[in-house]
Amino acid sequence: MQTSQAVQIANLGFPRIGRQRELKFALERYWRGEITQLELARVAKVLRSTHWEWQAKAGVELLPVGDFAYYDQVLTLSATLNVIPDRHRGEAQEGSVDLDTLFRVARGRAPTGEDAPASEMTKFFNTNYHYIVPELKAEQTFTIAYEQIFDEVCEAQALGYRAKPVLLGPVSYLYLAKAVGSEFNKLTLLPDLLKAYGAILARFVAQGVEWVQLEEPVLALELDSDWQEAIAVTYAALQDAGIKILLASYYGTIAHHQSLVSALPVAGLHLDLVTAPEQLADFAAHLQEEQVLSLGVINGRNVWAADIDSIAQRIKPVVNDLKGRVWIAPSCSLLHSPVDLDVEDELAPALRQQLSFAKQKLSELTQLKTLLTTDQSFGTKAEADAIRAACIARRNARAEAADKRVQERVAALSPADYERDSEFAARQVRQQQKYRLPLLPTTTIGSFPQTPAIRGLRSRWRRGEISETFYKDQLRQVTKDTVDRQLKLGIDVLVHGEAERNDMVEYFGEQLQGVGFTKFGWVQSYGSRCVKPPLIYGDLSRPGAMTVDWARYAQSLTDRPVKGMLTGPVTILHWSFAREDISREQIATQIGLAIRDEVIDLQNAGIGIIQIDEPAFREGLPLKRSEWDTYLQWAVDAFKLSAAGVSDETQIHTHMCYSEFNETIEAIAAMDADVITIETSRSRMELLTAFEDFEYPNEIGPGVYDIHSPNTPTVDEMVTLIEKAADKIPVRQLWVNPDCGLKTRTWEEVEPALQNLVQATKELRRRLG
Ligand code: GLN
Ligand code: ZN
Repeated sequence: MQTSQAVQIANLGFPRIGRQRELKFALERYWRGEITQLELARVAKVLRSTHWEWQAKAGVELLPVGDFAYYDQVLTLSATLNVIPDRHRGEAQEGSVDLDTLFRVARGRAPTGEDAPASEMTKFFNTNYHYIVPELKAEQTFTIAYEQIFDEVCEAQALGYRAKPVLLGPVSYLYLAKAVGSEFNKLTLLPDLLKAYGAILARFVAQGVEWVQLEEPVLALELDSDWQEAIAVTYAALQDAGIKILLASYYGTIAHHQSLVSALPVAGLHLDLVTAPEQLADFAAHLQEEQVLSLGVINGRNVWAADIDSIAQRIKPVVNDLKGRVWIAPSCSLLHSPVDLDVEDELAPALRQQLSFAKQKLSELTQLKTLLTTDQSFGTKAEADAIRAACIARRNARAEAADKRVQERVAALSPADYERDSEFAARQVRQQQKYRLPLLPTTTIGSFPQTPAIRGLRSRWRRGEISETFYKDQLRQVTKDTVDRQLKLGIDVLVHGEAERNDMVEYFGEQLQGVGFTKFGWVQSYGSRCVKPPLIYGDLSRPGAMTVDWARYAQSLTDRPVKGMLTGPVTILHWSFAREDISREQIATQIGLAIRDEVIDLQNAGIGIIQIDEPAFREGLPLKRSEWDTYLQWAVDAFKLSAAGVSDETQIHTHMCYSEFNETIEAIAAMDADVITIETSRSRMELLTAFEDFEYPNEIGPGVYDIHSPNTPTVDEMVTLIEKAADKIPVRQLWVNPDCGLKTRTWEEVEPALQNLVQATKELRRRLG
């Protein structure tokens, strides 16, 4: 049937959490022991069948199976392959894995119920989705040990659907895994891994499955020759499995691997044509006879309605050429999009019109098919016209909503707007004269414990149960208490504590023009954890000061300097769903201007030290090294724009909570912040190797207190860490601080830790001063 059709609708995967986060709540209840595993399974089954039904209704013919995961699809695959760390595995469990074991790996439990460190969690490529890193030993073997995907194939078939199992491919699986125990080349495990994949495919064949989707997102990376070779070996080995393989790539162009990929003996190829539309022509030209080309044309990882009209025009020639061998699909799994726009009941119509969540993206595929096939099938002309009209209406609405003032301001920027008045050395002298800070000044990163009382207060205020006046009054008391405690501890540069902020991006997004929020626009981050990113839908501006009142209030309580605390443009951009009709660089510039205005307002309100946090700076790095420089250039510029409006005396800080600086240190230095605070305590200052070859010019506070751990760091530990730092960096440039904000900790943990931090600093001042 499908070959007679001009084009077939396909999908790579659907979000699993449910449009009301049903899976999240069921999981958490299960983990708390409030429901049984059977009840959890029932919720999961309803979600799967609902999502299949939506997809089938939209015209998806092969339904993805295996996109559902109780925690993470990479972890499910590890379980399937019997890759379970010994510390999580039950005794009687040699060759089989159960759901509780899988949860133990993810959540850090031994079979006895005691703590056993969870497997590491890392961002999946350049997304905000986190996967559980498989742990592979040198002597690792792979066998089928967990039945979930096979059960789900049966489940889909029983509902009358044609199931297409989806799995991460062997090469990407190995690539993402971590070698533990001895050091070894992971590729030595490939032959045995391929046997296990062969066995999995054989099971699918026995179940009557026609197509399987194997995903190799590593193809978007610049792979070494041995990893390229592994791709060739893998698909040669799997070609006789008796099943059609759709090799899926996503998140970026794979044109650099074109000859390798076009030669693979696979039945179909999926391309991400949203991030890399230009790769279509080459792959279409090299398509093998009978091979299917799946065009990923609807963005699987955003929230914006697609311009179906222009997509249709763009791909029509290929659709005509390849006669019946074209699938149309989202660019990647819809996992990264919120689930269903229909449940949003309070969105402004102008914004709603521009949006499309996972379920709506399926309809976009239906509509795209209509546009692509109207020439052949009569009777759909009116429908096609309506679809085109909607696209035009959206385009016009966007053009009308443009904010000319913002665009003119961006256009008028000159190089001088990105630079401070004087070089760092001159600024440093002025800042020292003004603040007279001691050697090794102490400070914190911004937030202090968000106690249940503070959270409760905020939710009561949001629900309208308490007045704004009462809410703010209470928060002022919290702020005063926070300042008092810091004074008592003897910290040099104070913070107000960020009690009024729920989230460091949302807090600013809510006060900026051009940013919108949804009620249910949740996207899975990891396990049961979801995030609801703001939507940057229009030109961005700041109607009024966002943080000045809190900063001024906190500063009024003490003579010591209190840092103003802002989120930087790159982080706001990266942790939002950003519009796609202008470049990310342009959006970052707009946010940079809004933050710049806030920085200046803070300075004018008497706040002389201002921190602009950029924890997401590194996350924005492109997958391909060759594209890093371009990104770093505009990201650094956006930061500089936000910071450079102040006088030399004003001290600009920034903060980043990670430690891999080796390759980006020059860009970080180019940001020209007067002080940067960074994470180092977990890596025991290893990151400072970055500072061996490169002399970091400005001041720096390598975190000496690992706030991710509930343990109290001792004075001695911190003394050692600071000494280590002082080996690499002149002591006059060093600050002493924790390695991130303290909002997730309790005061019982924070106070003794900071006491020790101050104590350690005093000892070193005596010794090094
Ligand atoms: N100022 C923020 C805080 O302390 C920084 C958070 C972060 O680095 N992620 O919470
Ligand atoms: Zn941090």
